[in-house]
Amino acid sequence: MTFEYSSAPESKAIVTIDPVYKLFIGGKFVAPKGGKTFTTINPATEEVLAKIAYAEKSDVDKAVKAAQEGLKVWSKMAPSERGKYLYRIARIMQERAREFAVLETMDNGKPIRETRDIDIPLSAAHFFYHAGWADKLEHAGVGSNPKPYGVVGQIIPWNFPLLMLAWKVAPALATGNSVVLKPAETTPLTALLFAQVCQQAELPAGVVNIVTGDGATGAAIVNHPGINKIAFTGSTDVGKLIARSVAGTDKGLTLELGGKGANIVFEDAPLDETVEGIVNGIFFNQGHVCCAGSRLLVQENIQDELLEKLKRRMSQIRLGDPLDKNTDIGAINSREQLEKITELAISGDTEGAERFSAACTIPAKGFWYPPTFFTGVTQAHRIAREEIFGPVLSVISFRTPQEAIEKANNTPFGLSAGVWTDKGSRILWTAKHLRAGVIWANTFNKFDPASPFGGYKESGWGREGGRHGLAAYLKGAK
Ligand code: ADP
Repeated sequence: MTFEYSSAPESKAIVTIDPVYKLFIGGKFVAPKGGKTFTTINPATEEVLAKIAYAEKSDVDKAVKAAQEGLKVWSKMAPSERGKYLYRIARIMQERAREFAVLETMDNGKPIRETRDIDIPLSAAHFFYHAGWADKLEHAGVGSNPKPYGVVGQIIPWNFPLLMLAWKVAPALATGNSVVLKPAETTPLTALLFAQVCQQAELPAGVVNIVTGDGATGAAIVNHPGINKIAFTGSTDVGKLIARSVAGTDKGLTLELGGKGANIVFEDAPLDETVEGIVNGIFFNQGHVCCAGSRLLVQENIQDELLEKLKRRMSQIRLGDPLDKNTDIGAINSREQLEKITELAISGDTEGAERFSAACTIPAKGFWYPPTFFTGVTQAHRIAREEIFGPVLSVISFRTPQEAIEKANNTPFGLSAGVWTDKGSRILWTAKHLRAGVIWANTFNKFDPASPFGGYKESGWGREGGRHGLAAYLKGAK
């Protein structure tokens, strides 16, 4: 017998979306000089949500000047006073959490269950955590007289719009910097709501400036001589471009880029729990996760049993309306991303891997991809090497722990990994040999503001979160 869920949609009534949004510069919403706009849509319905100001070079220039003015006030303020503003922002984010969650789900396509329980609470937690550091920096182990960079340019992606803003803005402000931030073109709305929160918290003008636009706007921030440090999260290709632009200048730089995380399952792993971890590792946020466990490395003798359990679990995953509280998998963020996922998955078919997709009904409108895994994947396949950034898992088997390590490390990336085993000693041995910035043991995709996050190799430079993340916003700190 099958049980059907009734729909349980979250109401949109809590959210007010303006028809047109301006830039947030010097504490005010100002029209872009050129008067250009672009649209942001709901990827689950393809409906246009709002027109967004397009910032050109001259607008970025204005934002940098405002940030330099803001810095004068912010840097003179007692650190404990700066901390109070961060606490105030954190509390307002909590008070307006439902509004943020609904807006994020509408603009991004991710399920309300995730925005409500993960993105928004974690964003507020980042402000609470960093508020506590604001007046204790000399005790953070980053030198006795830590100094901010000054004006920080921050460029973020569309997969966790508000959370990536929080990861960037909270430590920058706690360490006494001012900010010019650019959200991604497909997901600007929660950053613009955050701008309203800055006004509500009476944050001094110019401390946070938000400019909306595309790659050219981002490049204008990166190349602006008034910017003292760049913090970027996004694709490895753009990260490389930015590293080249910043090379030879005295700008600070942190990069958080792509990944191809190995989720390693040993024969003694508790299989039911492991299946939950695999699902969470690759299907959380539609797989739009740089630290996703996108390569499942499974010990050969348990592969069949594990994949049977995984198929059964995948048949229970609910894909559909992101505002429905029962939805597990929402919409792919954009048509462009859906095309990338589709193209890479097709390369899996043509290169000889075998596809399994969960049977789910794909809504008529919007962008969707069913949860999928491929078996028979070799190290040479594109789906084993390239980041898919979608709900597609590549399954690769191994026989010995040494082989697992070799396969896991055989990637240009080094962001995350998972280990599933009953033995503590095997967890430690495996973690020691993996080249990955974050390694989860018998769990996956766990985040905490106190825990540093970042990668090796082409996954990036520097760490965000924790004490290490503070150092990234302090000049000369290690
Ligand atoms: P994705 O492939 O995940 O969309 P991107 O790296 O293209 O990742 O985008 C991440 C962020 O970088 C977005 O805010 C985007 O507008 C911005 N961006 C894109 N190109 C550039 C560039 N050349 N310089 C600076 N920022 C850029």
